[in-house]
Amino acid sequence: MSPASKGLRDPTDLTSMRLRALVILALATGLLAGFAELFGHGVRRFLLNEFLFLGPDVLWTAPLVNAAIFLLLGLGLFSGARLLPRLITLGRTAGIFVFFGSFGAFYIFPQFHRVAALLVAAGLAVQTARWAERRGAEHLTRLASRLLPTLLTAVLLLAILVRGGRALAERRALAALPAPMIGTPNVLLIVLDTVRAFNLSLYGYARNTSPSLDGFAAGGTTFDRAFSTAPWTLPSHASMFTGLWPHEMSADWLVPLNSGVPTLAEALARHGFVPAGFSGNTNYVSREVGLARGFVSFEDYVLTPSLVLRNSSLVRVVSRNRTLRRLIGEEDALGRKSAADINRSFFRWLDRRPAGRPFFAFINFYDAHRPYLPPPPYDRMFVPPGTEPDPRLHRTAKPGDDQRDETTAWAANAYDGGVAWLDSQLGVLFAELERRGLTDSTLIIVTSDHGEEFGEHGLFDHGNSLYRQAVQVPLVIRRAGQVPAAARVSAPVSLRDLPMTVLDLVGLGEEERFPGAPLSRYFGSVSPTHDTLLQGVRKAIRQPERYPAAQGNLAALIQDSVRYIRNLGTGEERLFDLVHDPLEQHDLSGEPPGQARLPALRATLERVRFVP
Ligand SMILES: [Zn+2]
Repeated sequence: MSPASKGLRDPTDLTSMRLRALVILALATGLLAGFAELFGHGVRRFLLNEFLFLGPDVLWTAPLVNAAIFLLLGLGLFSGARLLPRLITLGRTAGIFVFFGSFGAFYIFPQFHRVAALLVAAGLAVQTARWAERRGAEHLTRLASRLLPTLLTAVLLLAILVRGGRALAERRALAALPAPMIGTPNVLLIVLDTVRAFNLSLYGYARNTSPSLDGFAAGGTTFDRAFSTAPWTLPSHASMFTGLWPHEMSADWLVPLNSGVPTLAEALARHGFVPAGFSGNTNYVSREVGLARGFVSFEDYVLTPSLVLRNSSLVRVVSRNRTLRRLIGEEDALGRKSAADINRSFFRWLDRRPAGRPFFAFINFYDAHRPYLPPPPYDRMFVPPGTEPDPRLHRTAKPGDDQRDETTAWAANAYDGGVAWLDSQLGVLFAELERRGLTDSTLIIVTSDHGEEFGEHGLFDHGNSLYRQAVQVPLVIRRAGQVPAAARVSAPVSLRDLPMTVLDLVGLGEEERFPGAPLSRYFGSVSPTHDTLLQGVRKAIRQPERYPAAQGNLAALIQDSVRYIRNLGTGEERLFDLVHDPLEQHDLSGEPPGQARLPALRATLERVRFVP
């Protein structure tokens, strides 16, 4: 005889539970799932020494987001159980909670195969379902009611600790700033992440991709051959902040910038500047990778709804799954900050920044980075009429051989649209600086951290080679009355010279020393002797095997009008004419005149011990 027929309610029937009890159970298990994720993050961060690409707010937002997800899930199951009481039982509901909670925690480890994670989570779910059926609704309700207040208190304490700690640290850092010198200009360093020089009208590109920058450059000096030190974000930014070559510091795929090396922000803070950072690249321009050191405030993982959601591993499961994304109709990376968002953050900061002090603002705009998804009308600006975008190609950084031609055309068109969109937002930024009367009192530098490849040399994306497409970047420096206007410098220069350039132009070139030399040496009519410029990238992770950086460390140097690239893993060499072959299509290393130059170039690499 079933319990129901005796007039008793079946304790394993989900509908025997009151709604309030179900809510408590869902919230408690959701918060627990969040803490399970935090445990996983802790293991990755502190035991495996891996980057998480999440900010400290994950500590309190992951449990909260998961609690909300579990609440929705629980309410759905609760309603479903009224229709299908035999299918949706209390035990199965508990099992489903445990399935999602444990899968979310396992998903944190890329080392853990997804299928294995699913199987283990399913196993745990079955065990939990059996246990819950045995214990019944009342026991579960009691347990959840007892846990919930403790879990909520823990979340609240973590929120206070993270947010309060940050606010306190900022206040302290501000209070510790010394008095500034009178009349010091502000410094604004703008990095257009992934914008290669070749695709800007500023450098003669056939498409009008950079009208705002072109106008801005008319008031300053443009460097026609500026090179980043690395073909990807972290070491390149690290060089801009420290003056070091990639091989002289630790910043790498899995390693943050070493804490010992001085940074430009620290140096400027010592002289009363307020350093503030605004990063759109939440992968490799963040506190976690060591680039925020010296900044009083650094906005990387801000509390926007999408970045908060992204803190839950369960949300990331969905947001990283291309099939699910297509179903939702959202191809862009979850939490991506647009240039318009960053501009707004920067303007808000300008409003509340401490009065009477010069600022050092660093901005990283991420809009040109893949997936190439500029907003309309920029998305179709350079797409031939009648061409339908293939959504597969938005995110395809390394297409298969069959897709390559298609991808090259589509990706480059979409990329150019993104660059034009970013340029329009640069225009907004310049106009706002003008409106605030800051244009003339600010030293403004616009550059990029690296380029991008669109099938040249058979490569896509960046970080995988040292060809010029990946390392030649825009560079414009402007300061009224100090930097020549409408001037162009054709000598090759490296972004590693930026720290000394800034210090020199704000009058601190004697007080503070960084590796490198001020680029103001190119402002006069007398051309200085050209230095040897270096670029490098360490053996890359997650690259197709045929890509150069997947085979070994790469080193390149520019010396006497040639560019020499060496794969230190395979010994392969490339030699290009710096002036006459900007796209590096004609390798001279196998031809007699080129061959004759190789020994000297190899010796230079040897001498600087350039092993990135
Ligand atoms: Zn980058």
